[in-house]
Amino acid sequence: MTAALDLLDLDPSLSEEERQIRDVVRQLVDDRVRPHVADWYEDGKVPARELAREFGKLGLLGMHLTGYGCAGASAVAYGLACQELEAGDSGLRSLVSVQGSLAMYAIWRYGSEEQKRRWLPSMATGEAIGCFGLTEPDHGSDPASMATRARRDGDDWVLTGGKMWITNAPIADVAVIWARTDEGVRGFAVPIDTPGVTAREIRRKMSLRASVTGEIVLDDVRLPADAQLPEAVGLKAPLSCLTEARYGIVWGAVGAARDCLETTLAYATNRTQFGRPLAGFQLTQAKLADMAVELVKGQLLALHLGRLADARRLRPEQVSVGKLNNVREALAIARQCRTILGANGVSGEYPVMRHANNLESVLTYEGTSEIHQLVIGQRLTGLSAFA
Ligand SMILES: Cc1cc2nc3c(=O)[nH]c(=O)nc-3n(C[C@H](O)[C@H](O)[C@H](O)COP(=O)(O)OP(=O)(O)OC[C@H]3O[C@@H](n4cnc5c(N)ncnc54)[C@H](O)[C@@H]3O)c2cc1C
Repeated sequence: MTAALDLLDLDPSLSEEERQIRDVVRQLVDDRVRPHVADWYEDGKVPARELAREFGKLGLLGMHLTGYGCAGASAVAYGLACQELEAGDSGLRSLVSVQGSLAMYAIWRYGSEEQKRRWLPSMATGEAIGCFGLTEPDHGSDPASMATRARRDGDDWVLTGGKMWITNAPIADVAVIWARTDEGVRGFAVPIDTPGVTAREIRRKMSLRASVTGEIVLDDVRLPADAQLPEAVGLKAPLSCLTEARYGIVWGAVGAARDCLETTLAYATNRTQFGRPLAGFQLTQAKLADMAVELVKGQLLALHLGRLADARRLRPEQVSVGKLNNVREALAIARQCRTILGANGVSGEYPVMRHANNLESVLTYEGTSEIHQLVIGQRLTGLSAFA
């Protein structure tokens, strides 16, 4: 990273171990992602399974979980890994977030001992891929209205419905599916090869093209009783998984913004117009300064939330503050950087527009900006404005 971008000298506030983890992930991204990611993005094809195994070797999958082959790293270390992955591409951070913070976390937190032993070790190595099915075609921001049903039939469960916009679904081995039952919302670990399950890829995405997204159809899917996650009772279970994943996004978005700003600083220093580098114009410096200030504010916020998480004091609405601010500012930085690159800003030869397009999805998933405003608004006023 360009040293000048660490305006507030945040580096020394990281421990030696945190810096080491960050540097290892940064190296992996430099070696394994940067040389190929523009092609993956343009082609809309990413070797996700291969990458998952490489991420698994480094302990990045379910990194902040303990036992069952998981690395048991601190929240800050996990956040730093997300930052470096998303500096490569938001799609790769999504792969890791969905695997570790949504699918693995749901099983780790709410599963039976048998479910944990069955799924977590192979998910930690990347041999098995997981996805997390909450959103439906007609129910996004309002998952309480979900239409997917699970009914009991003897000891079995029978699931019917559909999930939409599910990251990793077309390559998954197991889907954590949330469904309405007579007793309220429950979660199920559904092997994707169960008869009645179909996972189709969603095509023509203009964002997160280096990430696999799909639709899951559940047509009278019969599951044994032990597919249900026994500790997951009510909607608060999937919402707690979302808080985990949103935390990673707080850090990841800063990574995408940093990559845009680093690219733009180098470009503006080298590109000459009117006989001087673009970086020498006052208007360009004003843009660069404002963006650098937002970047370090976002980094500080992520680090503060990480330290709260490691002290077991992080609350969901604090994660909403981070997700709302850091994604919104990262997107503003990406768009502003694009202006400084001129025509080259729209080229895939530079990462800036790819990051900007990716961040449009990041702004929407894991709670849109409006939903996080409502969460914060509820905390401030004591009034729920959701419905
Ligand atoms: C690339 C990608 C990957 C995804 N991966 C997953 C995944 O792995 N698993 C999963 O379950 N989901 C996933 N999602 C879905 C994502 O979480 C939803 O898109 C998101 O929750 C928003 O739902 P929606 O798209 O249905 O929008 P809607 O809920 O229809 O919202 C549309 C607009 O209305 C606004 N709005 C809605 N309600 C209110 C309100 N009460 N007040 C004010 N404004 C409101 C929203 O903020 C938004 O601007 C993914 C989405 C994308 C794009």
